[in-house]
Amino acid sequence: MHASYMSIKESGCEVLFKEGDEQNARKTMEFLKNSVNFLSQYFGITPPGNLRLFLVQDRGEFDRLVVDLLGVDIEIPSNPGRLAQPQKKDMVFISPAAYGEHSTYEFNPEEFERLVFHETTHVFEEYLSPNIELMPRWWSEGLAVYVSGHWQFRDQFKFRKAVEKNLPEGKIPDFEEINRSIDLSYDWGWTLVMFIEKTLGKEAIRKAVMECGDGNIPETLGWKKDDFEREWKEWLLGEGKELIGIQRGKGDCFEKRIRRRR
Ligand SMILES: [Zn+2]
Repeated sequence: MHASYMSIKESGCEVLFKEGDEQNARKTMEFLKNSVNFLSQYFGITPPGNLRLFLVQDRGEFDRLVVDLLGVDIEIPSNPGRLAQPQKKDMVFISPAAYGEHSTYEFNPEEFERLVFHETTHVFEEYLSPNIELMPRWWSEGLAVYVSGHWQFRDQFKFRKAVEKNLPEGKIPDFEEINRSIDLSYDWGWTLVMFIEKTLGKEAIRKAVMECGDGNIPETLGWKKDDFEREWKEWLLGEGKELIGIQRGKGDCFEKRIRRRR
């Protein structure tokens, strides 16, 4: 199925690529290994090993691998906004070389690095979860956006945008709305994960990932749903707002401040 790919293997990671794309493959390997190191430490585990990342050169090949190799059911042809798809220990990425023709994004190396981190977080979650199918979208995307640090950046993925726009006005959606909405899951899920980590520590994130099998994260962590929602909102309007870097009238300064901290 992928006999025509060349491959680089290092420390339990493999990047598969087409001839002529070796430079991108080497960079991708570096990003992948960094992500795996960070996430292994974060979750306190030895790296899963045998992770494969395919760099594909066009939309048709992306769809073919996602459907035939990953076994994921997506629309064909897939939306040009799709840049990557993880499943178990495999990931398929549109190669940096193909962004111009086969995606709606402009290629940016830093954003690509963060995307590798984000998708690798999904791989870790699936690897560690007792039942990934039942995990709510806000949790999986929130985890990937938060743990990868994606939330800190005003980039093409716009993960901060809704929070930056609405939080200063005190507009926060209800937990149930987020639970039901794909868009709100991406926009606000990371604030829920951040709230859990800042309140109960990283151990709680690990526990929820490794022990929650029914999708009810608050309950797994000993919260009644109403209390969870109320405490999250209170936190978000106080300490959370500060940590996220939302302060009236500070303009772009906060992003530089956050970057230095990384
Ligand atoms: Zn994601």
